[in-house]
Amino acid sequence: MTETSPFLAGLLGRCPRCGKGALFRSYLKVADACGVCGLDFSSEDSGDGPAVFVMSIVGFIVVPAALAMELAASPPVWVHMLVWLPLATLLTLLILPPFKATLFALQWTHNAHEAQLDLDPVETERVGEGTDPSRTDSDAA
Ligand SMILES: [Zn+2]
Repeated sequence: MTETSPFLAGLLGRCPRCGKGALFRSYLKVADACGVCGLDFSSEDSGDGPAVFVMSIVGFIVVPAALAMELAASPPVWVHMLVWLPLATLLTLLILPPFKATLFALQWTHNAHEAQLDLDPVETERVGEGTDPSRTDSDAA
């Protein structure tokens, strides 16, 4: 099986293992399993992560643009509402599914679980094996 990029799989809304099966069965509803390779998607739990990224990115685009418009033309408030609310809504709806899929693909790729991240299994084993032998009790005093 070829290696699938979690970023490509996320961008396309595909299964992180095979890169072919659809991750979503509707707009943001994750399917039960991959229709191609059978990967169980029930562990999918990206939590608030996608929303945090999307809010940050959309805010980074919309707020400076609204401020620039206000400084340049000082339009009435209804113009701001008419321009920026639909734009913020549209951007949010467009980028939320890819971010959710990418975060799930990254979680699956790194075997991440709540409060865990398996970047280097060897390093993970060393955590909690005792205290640093180079430190002595006199260091604490
Ligand atoms: Zn698959």
